[in-house]
Order: sequence, then structure tokens, then C-alpha cells
Amino acid sequence: MIIDTHAHVYLEDFDEDADLIIERAKEENIDQILLPNIDVSSVDRLLNLSEQHPSLYKPMIGLHPCYVKEDYKLQLDHLKGYLDRKEIVAVGEIGIDLYWDKTFKKEQIEAYRTQIEWSREKQLPFAIHSRESLDLTISIVEEMQDGNLKGVFHCFNGTAEQAKRIINAGFYMGIGGVVTFKNAGVDKTVAQLPMDSLVVETDAPYLSPVPFRGSRNEPSYVSKVIDKIAEVQNMEREEVCRITTLNAKKLFSL
Ligand SMILES: [Zn+2]
Repeated sequence: MIIDTHAHVYLEDFDEDADLIIERAKEENIDQILLPNIDVSSVDRLLNLSEQHPSLYKPMIGLHPCYVKEDYKLQLDHLKGYLDRKEIVAVGEIGIDLYWDKTFKKEQIEAYRTQIEWSREKQLPFAIHSRESLDLTISIVEEMQDGNLKGVFHCFNGTAEQAKRIINAGFYMGIGGVVTFKNAGVDKTVAQLPMDSLVVETDAPYLSPVPFRGSRNEPSYVSKVIDKIAEVQNMEREEVCRITTLNAKKLFSL
């Protein structure tokens, strides 16, 4: 049994073969797929999909840092209303992205903090997106951690030192397709990480693992991530599935 903890399969990229996506995921023994939100315009698609397949798709609600613009406060007000729905498993995805655009850095930080407060208030975990901002996103978690916060640094590609800070804060790392990329170095870091701090993910439709790199990613490809973790940790594949699924269940109360 496997849980893909981060996949945007509600996007239009998957409209044409939505049933095949599920079929192929089931063939790989994936029985739960977590759906991180992007902004107010993606919520209906996300919730519709999870309503159609409630045991497979588990929705998150949050505002992605790349979509924090002038209107972010309105977006946050609107999104917060969805958090009381019982099917919501996490706040996400939230964070800071300074790679694409630094214009709204201040607002991104503000939106990140606000949504961490939501997590505390609703007792939900949160999924963190960081790009060129890992130290900053970790520092904010460290500062706000009062023993009641839990979550995952999704698409982790940091250093062993950053991993240590994440673990000390009581957080998990989401390992995705980048671990299979040659020269990215993530495989070498993952080799040193304790298995009880890891969950697996695809970030579909982005970041396809080798040998699908460059094409649309989908949940069934998470098996390539698991193969790679098994290889670098020198561990049986079944053991990687067992531990990462246990971690995901614990983190997201699944
Ligand atoms: Zn994502």
C-alpha cells in the first residue's frame, strides 16, 4: 500500500484520462492520493474530484505562494471557509517561492504565517512549498512551533543540515521525482535520512521521475520514487512502502 501525498490530478491536464490515472495508480497499489490546492479558482475542481472518489482522493485547502498577489487577503478569506469541511486533510499548499517572482515576498511570508495559524486553529497538518526559500520557511516553522504544529516540506531537496532542522521541528520531508534525477544530489541526502521522517509524493503533473522525466507526471509514477529510496537506503521496497505509508497516515490522520 502506497500514499501519494502530493498530486494535482484535479488539473485540466488529467481531464482526458482521469479513469486511467486511477486504474494505473491502483495497479501500483496506491490507495490514497492527497490533493494540494493552488488558489480560489482551483477549489471547485479539487473538491469535485475528491467528492467523486472520496476514499482515494483527499483534499487540502490553501493558497500556493506563487498565487499570492495583490488580492491575497480576499483569497485567504474565501479559502478559509472551506477548512471546516470534514474531508479536508491538510492546509496546503502554502509556503514561499522566490524563484519565479520576488515582487510579493512580504505578502508571501504574511500568507504563509496566516495559513500556519489556520493549521494550529483547525488542528490540521500543512504542506509546505519552498523554492529558494528553504531556510526561511524552516525558520518560520521553528519560530511558530509550539508543539502543536505538524506538516511536511514537500518536494524536499535541501541539505542534510536543513533536514536535521526539519526533523528537530517535528516535521516530515516529502520525497518526489527529483530523487531520481542524476546530478541533483537529493539521492545522496535521502540516503542519510531517517526513514521515519519521510513520505513519498509525485507533485503530478510536474517533476516526473526518471525514466518519465519531461513528460506529464501521475500518481502511479511514485513507484519510481520508492524504488530509488529503496536503492539508496539499501532497503526492501516493501519496507519503504510500509514505513512511508505509516508516516503519511500518522501525519495526515488517514
Ligand atoms: Zn504542488
